[in-house]
Amino acid sequence: MSQAVVNGQKSAGSIPERRPPPDARKKTKPTPTAAGLGSLPLPVWRCKVCGYLCARDGPPEVCPICKAKKDRFERFI
Ligand SMILES: [Zn+2]
Repeated sequence: MSQAVVNGQKSAGSIPERRPPPDARKKTKPTPTAAGLGSLPLPVWRCKVCGYLCARDGPPEVCPICKAKKDRFERFI
């Protein structure tokens, strides 16, 4: 009788979920938008009004310095 209990516990087992799946490591990709220092993968935009520079996918809606609209920005690099 006591053996049956032991067997039951073993078969219910805590083994399967112990290890993290191998995919967990692959999910840690570097995010190019957040860490933009060093070699910039993004274009740089320049405000023609005040000379403000920013590196991002596109010009900002409004210049944070002089409030010029994004059509006053030009591609700098
Ligand atoms: Zn500006």
